[in-house]
Amino acid sequence: MKYSLENIQGRTHIGYKRKRNEDRYLIQALENGTGFLLAVADGMGGVAGGDIAAQIVVDILKDYQKTGQDIEGDLACLFHGAGRKIIERSDAEPALRDMGTTATAVLLTEQKAYWAHVGDSRLYSQRNGQIQQITTDHTFVQDLIQDGTLTQKDAERHPLKNMLNQCVGCAELKPDTGWFSFLPGDKLLLCSDGLSRYVSKEAISDGFAEGGAGKIADHLVQSALAAGGRDNVTLVVCSG
Ligand code: CA
Repeated sequence: MKYSLENIQGRTHIGYKRKRNEDRYLIQALENGTGFLLAVADGMGGVAGGDIAAQIVVDILKDYQKTGQDIEGDLACLFHGAGRKIIERSDAEPALRDMGTTATAVLLTEQKAYWAHVGDSRLYSQRNGQIQQITTDHTFVQDLIQDGTLTQKDAERHPLKNMLNQCVGCAELKPDTGWFSFLPGDKLLLCSDGLSRYVSKEAISDGFAEGGAGKIADHLVQSALAAGGRDNVTLVVCSG
């Protein structure tokens, strides 16, 4: 399947409550025409730090060129490179101390989606109307859900629900990686928590029925804004 920029669309919106947009996204065609690199990064920390951290990840991913076979390893390696750069920069500039970012990236080739992920941005895919959350949030509460201490409902109200237990720029950085087949008719969504925290998986799935990638992307941004737009909203949609 050949992708064009028409079936891959990105959107970002500052939302209604935040003074800055600390989210970034990337849609980058690989030079040799073998695919696209897609990413969402949601920065945090300091006054300007979040923007900078998210931008560093996106800038590093932008230069990726597929060379060998270990695409998952390559993506994880880029995350580690970005992490080192963020830490160096925050060590050098006290105003940027503790900045970091989530990063969820997908390398889309003709029939496969390779991904790497750190933090609480998300990757969803859908085939035949069945939506699946591919990534697991790297949050303190997610760990408690997994070991049975918290229910999903309790977690949504937990005072530490926003706390990440790893990020790009944190001391702890162990990207999850994987791949799945991506076939004609499939849908793929990368998004920041400004969408996933306010728009349910079911509502996202309904949004995929809106039509092409552009319509889906607009619809999902509007859904997050209609829910209050409390955070920056950023997403990349591919409609295969
Ligand atoms: Ca956010």
